[in-house]
Amino acid sequence: MPVTPEQQAEIDALRAQPRQTLRAVSEGMEAHLYKAIPVLDHGFVRVIDYMGDDAAICQAARVSYGKGTKSVQNDEGLIRYLMRHWHSTPFEMCEVKLHVKLPVFVARQWIRHRTANVNEYSARYSILDREFYIPEPSQLAAQSVVNNQGRGAALTADESARVLEILKGDAARTYDHYEEMISDTSPDGGAKQGLARELARMNLPANIYTQWYWKVDLHNLFHFLRLRADAHAQYEIRVYADAICKVVADWVPAAYGAFEDYRMGGAVLSAKGLECLRRMLKGEAVTQETSGMSKGEWREFEGVLNDPA
Ligand SMILES: Cc1cc2nc3c(=O)[nH]c(=O)nc-3n(C[C@H](O)[C@H](O)[C@H](O)COP(=O)(O)OP(=O)(O)OC[C@H]3O[C@@H](n4cnc5c(N)ncnc54)[C@H](O)[C@@H]3O)c2cc1C
Repeated sequence: MPVTPEQQAEIDALRAQPRQTLRAVSEGMEAHLYKAIPVLDHGFVRVIDYMGDDAAICQAARVSYGKGTKSVQNDEGLIRYLMRHWHSTPFEMCEVKLHVKLPVFVARQWIRHRTANVNEYSARYSILDREFYIPEPSQLAAQSVVNNQGRGAALTADESARVLEILKGDAARTYDHYEEMISDTSPDGGAKQGLARELARMNLPANIYTQWYWKVDLHNLFHFLRLRADAHAQYEIRVYADAICKVVADWVPAAYGAFEDYRMGGAVLSAKGLECLRRMLKGEAVTQETSGMSKGEWREFEGVLNDPA
């Protein structure tokens, strides 16, 4: 369960106390504040706080005394210009603080993004919940034969049932041992010391859930989303990135629109790629052999040119 009824009551209480402010407010983001968006089987993402909106990006770009807004069209044009020309610092003027609940193996990928501020739930101080990520059968696939870092065909029903049995069994067994190690009473009811939490956690599997607060500016958030909402990212982190994308689209619609257009939907071509494209436009039948590109580069170049539909 992503949030318990008690946690939901705390969220509802926070949302029931609106206050007036002089600060920039994004109506789209206000609708998200504090609410938990479920991700995977027990995870979630929720917005705890944010600073700035589309106008704040323009305000910073113009180093303005007032709101910085000329008109919505002007602002959108400026934001698209900034994104197109990699003028990144105005986007750093917007910030967001998220509360994320995620499996430890996803957290290991996520934490590689160093340009954020993180505070994680302490398993030295607190006892971890009995919550493990168990994939949907549709997500259980074999090792990819074309991509060493990815998944290939789905497992057969028999094999996936066996894998799920192993995952669930291991999770239950290791958590039972975790509880047994930290417990200060023995099975016969007698007193025992119980192992420190910081040590007892060490044999828990990487699919156990952890939680953190993650604060990042919009420029670095876009960098994270470009890498982690990409089709090449692992499914389990991509679903978090996809959820965050929807929030950002509501928070800063013009900036998100520019990001979608130039970064997510756009492509970067090498000088060789650009030259091949120019030759193709002149009617030449360019092949990998005549392109000057390696097989891998050519495959990716064709991937950019081919209509995904
Ligand atoms: C599909 C995919 C596969 C991956 N596979 C692997 C893998 O096999 N093994 C592995 O170890 N990692 C892997 N990674 C992680 C990847 O190498 C990066 O560590 C991760 O994506 C974070 O990117 P970043 O460093 O650009 O982000 P951030 O840490 O947020 O940094 C943003 C930018 O700030 C600058 N920056 C930040 N810190 C420094 C610094 N100390 N010095 C200089 N510049 C800095 C850089 O320009 C950087 O691009 C993978 C990532 C992806 C998306």
